[in-house]
Amino acid sequence: MRIGVLGGGQLGRMLALAGYPLGLEFVFYDHNPQACASGLGTFISGEFNDMRRLTELAQQVDVVTVEFENIPVTALEHLAQTVPVYPSPQAVSAAQDRLGEKKLFASLGIQTPDFYAVDSAESLTDASSRHGDTLIVKSRRFGYDGKGQLPLTTASEANGVWTTLGGVPLIAEQRIPFHREVSIIAVRSRSGSMGFYPLTENLHKHGMLERSQASIADPLQTLAQDYVQRVMQALDYVGVLAFEFFDCDGELVANEIAPRVHNSGHWTIEGAVTSQFENHLRAILDWPLGMTSTRADCVMYNVIGELPDPAMILNVPGAHLHYYGKAPRPGRKLGHVTLCDPSAEEIRTLESLLPERN
Ligand code: ATP
Ligand code: MG
Repeated sequence: MRIGVLGGGQLGRMLALAGYPLGLEFVFYDHNPQACASGLGTFISGEFNDMRRLTELAQQVDVVTVEFENIPVTALEHLAQTVPVYPSPQAVSAAQDRLGEKKLFASLGIQTPDFYAVDSAESLTDASSRHGDTLIVKSRRFGYDGKGQLPLTTASEANGVWTTLGGVPLIAEQRIPFHREVSIIAVRSRSGSMGFYPLTENLHKHGMLERSQASIADPLQTLAQDYVQRVMQALDYVGVLAFEFFDCDGELVANEIAPRVHNSGHWTIEGAVTSQFENHLRAILDWPLGMTSTRADCVMYNVIGELPDPAMILNVPGAHLHYYGKAPRPGRKLGHVTLCDPSAEEIRTLESLLPERN
């Protein structure tokens, strides 16, 4: 079976690494021939509005999936005329617009921050006056790693925030005083069977994920599963779906969904019986899903900006190193390290080796 993957980043790379033992082959489609998954399969260099190139992809594969969500829906719909696309164009589209996403959550009875649609500097001023407290203002589309977001404290800042964010459609959200951030990774196959990984506790720095820790037997597990199941059923979703929440005094407040494998699920490579990557592939092929239970207590750190000497990292017992083959650049995710059943000492040592933590 040949899997077409839209996007050639590290998530695509890890999908391929999980798929090879199953006998799968991969064709990556990305505009950047240097994309870090390009060496792991056949590579087609093309833009997402190049329908001829996309047709070439469709003709070479049995199923198409995405490794990042900002693929134009027109490209997904074009491909879907020739080959199955999972998650479906409609499902990916639902996760592309933060405003639509929040409305979907609310319609499914899932608690969200208060939110306001913003289409002009005036409507942002108005939202700020009505809300009367700090807002987090986000571009509706194309945000990642906290990019395209600014806090807004008083209405007098609205013009500046509107201009800095580029005069694009925005959502202004209540700032949630969370005591932790959690996410759930879930998977649903073409025939509707589902699996749920243990909740993961996430630490962000400057809006970017820095550390994830699986939280076994978390008191919010059942509620998170219920919420993600509602979304998957509403979207007739196929594949891995990640759902990020704020834990606010034991209440789950929805942040966002990602229609793909997710950084907060990287620990499942070593820490779960079946990784999120393998289960995504099983789901889109309608193969039986693998068990989502854990094999170890895991904590995962992103390697951001610089690449420490691999030998130093591997000197920490229980450390599993994943470098993505990307050139170092400040603020760029270059790899991750998962520690299985770590001691406090191992955690301290690893943290001291990671560049942008220090
Ligand atoms: P990523 O790609 O890393 O998931 P993103 O760019 O899609 O991030 P969000 O998840 O919406 O953006 O926001 C990034 C981080 O900013 C959140 O994980 C959280 O730490 C903080 N944040 C976002 N929205 C809010 C909010 N309404 N209240 C409090 N903090 C928030
Ligand atoms: Mg997020």
